[in-house]
Amino acid sequence: MDVFPEETREAANLLKQAVPNMVRHDIPPNPIHYALWYSYAQGNNAELKQRLDRIVNNFAVFPPEAAIKLYREYIINGELEQARSGQQQVIDVVDTLESEVTRSLDGGKNYEKSLKHGLEVLHEPVMDELPSVLEELLDSTYAMQEQQEKFLYRLQAAQAEVQYLRNQLKKTQMAASLDALTQVFNRFSFNRFLEQALAEQHPNAALIMLDLDHFKAFNDQYGHVLGDRVLQTVAQMLREQTPSHALCARYGGEEFAVILNPCGKLDEARALAEALRAKLQSLRVKVRNTDKTLDNITASFGVALAQPGDTLDSLIHRADEDLYRAKRSGRNSVGAKTDNLTKTRSK
Ligand code: GH3
Ligand code: MG
Ligand code: MG
Repeated sequence: MDVFPEETREAANLLKQAVPNMVRHDIPPNPIHYALWYSYAQGNNAELKQRLDRIVNNFAVFPPEAAIKLYREYIINGELEQARSGQQQVIDVVDTLESEVTRSLDGGKNYEKSLKHGLEVLHEPVMDELPSVLEELLDSTYAMQEQQEKFLYRLQAAQAEVQYLRNQLKKTQMAASLDALTQVFNRFSFNRFLEQALAEQHPNAALIMLDLDHFKAFNDQYGHVLGDRVLQTVAQMLREQTPSHALCARYGGEEFAVILNPCGKLDEARALAEALRAKLQSLRVKVRNTDKTLDNITASFGVALAQPGDTLDSLIHRADEDLYRAKRSGRNSVGAKTDNLTKTRSK
């Protein structure tokens, strides 16, 4: 479901309904409020409407944390992608609205001019009350103009804020999908990509899992800081040594995964796993402030090809079984060392 499905013009109309509500309750015109009051005007979320009504009835000033909470719950709703397109719509309508307000500001100035003129003409006390009525009107015009000018100023500020927010959202989205230490995709993204690949009627993907060998002992000997650097080096190697249709992820502590999509042949995935294994073995990690270089980093690999009807769990389970065959047969191999060659040849 699109959060903001309307055409820009329709969206501007909705926002024009939203803005008086915001002005009435003195709600700051920031992107979060636009989105909330826009949804309010759309009227298709009764619960949100009820909650907004309750807040404006109970609070003199709209609590910012309540706005953010509602925005998260109702607008973002876990779908960052959707929220991003929503933000684009808000930018469009803020644009439209700004030009509308500018126009009405000009209109206000003309109104003021004609009123002044009327006042001059009618200044002789022809009708005693009329000048004071006009003066009142003029005062309210000034007030209206002042309010509009302020509003326009705040709108312009809001536009910059929308742009900033959009960039932030993009960054957050990227940060949320990457592993902080190694900068490859995290487990959450891995699950999402693999689920997508398996949702195809004829899945055409392969999974490579790898687990560093004796990494606990490595940490014990060299410390976690160097251990972390090894993880970063491995991740970088994976990124560099995999083709563009591969996705590399940190599956957990010292376990990584590569999804190959498309990949129709187990041999193709095994060949890549073997190349990665060899590359990893040849990596040299320098110990800082010493002449020492570590050359004993290896990993065990498991490979599985997606079958129709596979779930995330069943595919990972097969790759894992293959990986543990490698561990049991002495590590630093793709699947079990002994049947590795026969397997590759027989397929
Ligand atoms: P095996 O060859 O059987 O896989 O042995 P292992 O020692 O690698 O396996 P085990 O699962 O016993 O230990 C994994 C170790 O990985 C434990 C932990 O110290 C280390 N580890 C996990 N996450 C991190 C991390 O983020 N940084 C560092 N430095 N070490 C980590
Ligand atoms: Mg492990
Ligand atoms: Mg391990």
